Amino acid sequence: MEIKLRFHPEQELHEHPRRTRMPIHHALEWTPRENSEDEFTPLVKIFITPNAYIRVCAHAGSDLNNEVGGWMAGKYCYDTIFQQEFLVIDTILAAPYTNHGAAHLTFTSDSQIALFEFLERYHPDKQLVGWYHTHPRMGVFFSSWDEWLHKNFFPKPWQVALVVEPFTSAGGFFIRQKNGQLDTRRYFGFYELITQEKKSKVFWKNLKPELDLANPEMEVLVI
Ligand SMILES: [Zn+2]
Repeated sequence: MEIKLRFHPEQELHEHPRRTRMPIHHALEWTPRENSEDEFTPLVKIFITPNAYIRVCAHAGSDLNNEVGGWMAGKYCYDTIFQQEFLVIDTILAAPYTNHGAAHLTFTSDSQIALFEFLERYHPDKQLVGWYHTHPRMGVFFSSWDEWLHKNFFPKPWQVALVVEPFTSAGGFFIRQKNGQLDTRRYFGFYELITQEKKSKVFWKNLKPELDLANPEMEVLVI
């Protein structure tokens, strides 16, 4: 596969995180049910809007035989009080020109260029924060191909990957550690941003909600 990476000044502008507060009090945390004990601190925490979550699930469920995928855009931020970097994922862009195949998904240079042009034109205030793809009937893991792709197309330490298993309703994020390493066998949950109606949209069976019982403000209806 030939890869052309172009210099995109608009994207380079947002190389540094914006300083803003982490919306921790307006979000429901989802963590893997099978949590491993090892010390692993992901560089970024992830917040996702209900709409973005639904869009990923709709695309993921649209093909149970082939891998589908796309990009995730939003904001790369830093909370000075928590001293924590985080992402707010609010825009999902399905990849238009992928080479379909049950084995793996590829991003082509054409699709990557089309994506940057689209972002510059319609979402100039947003950054490419990562990508997502499905593993129908295969589970939530990072293959060596996924690792290669992530390293080459999403090299910034804070860029993340989401793997969705639409057949069994599961999903998880792959996030680099502070030292830049990524554990291909370990996925993470995320924070679901909660809207006024206080109803969770998350239905992935491999994750569990961390309900804050001490905070009645955050009484959220979970599916
Ligand atoms: Zn994969």
